Amino acid sequence: MYYPRVEIDLNKLRHNVRVLVNMCKMHGIDVAGVTKVFCGDPHITKAYVEGGVKYLADSRIENLIKLKDIDLPKILIRIPMISEVDRVVEYADISLNSEIETIKAISNEAKKKGKIHNIILMVDLGDLREGYFNEEELYDVVEDVLDMDGIKLIGLGTNLTCYGGVIPDEDNLGRLVKIKKNIKEKFRVDLEIISGGNSSSLHLLMKEKTVDGINMLRLGEVLVLGRETAYGDKVKDTHDDCFQLVAEIVEIKEKPSVPIGQIGMDAFGNVPTFSDKGIRKRIICAIGKQDVDIDSIIPVDEDIDILGASSDHLILDGTDCKIDYRVGDKIRFNLTYSGILRVMTSEYVKKDIKN
Ligand SMILES: *Cc1c(COP(=O)(O)O)cnc(C)c1O
Repeated sequence: MYYPRVEIDLNKLRHNVRVLVNMCKMHGIDVAGVTKVFCGDPHITKAYVEGGVKYLADSRIENLIKLKDIDLPKILIRIPMISEVDRVVEYADISLNSEIETIKAISNEAKKKGKIHNIILMVDLGDLREGYFNEEELYDVVEDVLDMDGIKLIGLGTNLTCYGGVIPDEDNLGRLVKIKKNIKEKFRVDLEIISGGNSSSLHLLMKEKTVDGINMLRLGEVLVLGRETAYGDKVKDTHDDCFQLVAEIVEIKEKPSVPIGQIGMDAFGNVPTFSDKGIRKRIICAIGKQDVDIDSIIPVDEDIDILGASSDHLILDGTDCKIDYRVGDKIRFNLTYSGILRVMTSEYVKKDIKN
């Protein structure tokens, strides 16, 4: 057995997905399962498929390529780069867009390949990441896009609580639905998909406050951690430990809590500060900043304190632990969303997928 590793419990993940797909279904909402947090691993994605998602969605075309043999429509959720449009048309059925130059490039590529590529136009409702902010510009683009070959405009989408932390509500999502109605009036096209955001929109469903007309959500974090992301509330009957990190202890020693000697810079160029707690039992695990961000791992043993990490060493304080750890023992950690992302991306962390 190799360490460090991340254990992935597909039964728990599949259960989470089922709970959320059902919850969304009751409100007329289809789920696009976002696979970027586990780098589009096809084996893990099976839990999404079996859990009942209607679409698969990822921000990277490389990940969608890994999923090409799974028979569900695939959505590229990061605005495409012009340099990748050939692969976008080849491997994504739908993409989220906000730039007319890029849409033209997609149209040309789709014509060349004899394909029709579906696009969702992004509307910025105030969070200030991607999407059209100016409504008039959006209508001009709709008019242009409706004239293009190789492209089908199938919907509108928005993204909230990402850059600006803006929480989805009846006002901002209501505006998205209103824009859809305006497009119907102006251009006589009835857009089939209104994609009302990510895991932060779940808080509306949990309070039975859904916005009429929203019929798709793109969900990542709430599927893997069972938590909506507007307020961080837990979704009932879901697991938060589908992904767990396991690292091995390589050293345990009693040492002072303050370094000896003149303090200069640490391995990352910062000048560290310390408080004197006397002699402590310090545990070193063989994992480091190359694999994890120490703010995003949570020891399952609550008596462990994380002291710090360098690129390859994680330093823990085990003085208050009831367990008498030995060199070679394993320490388990729960992970935040960005914690999962980081360990799944590190090639040094083994992926242990349990069915
Ligand atoms: C990452 C992402 C999502 C999923 O967000 P979660 O908070 O993980 O649900 C949805 N839409 C877009 C555009 C994204 O980039």
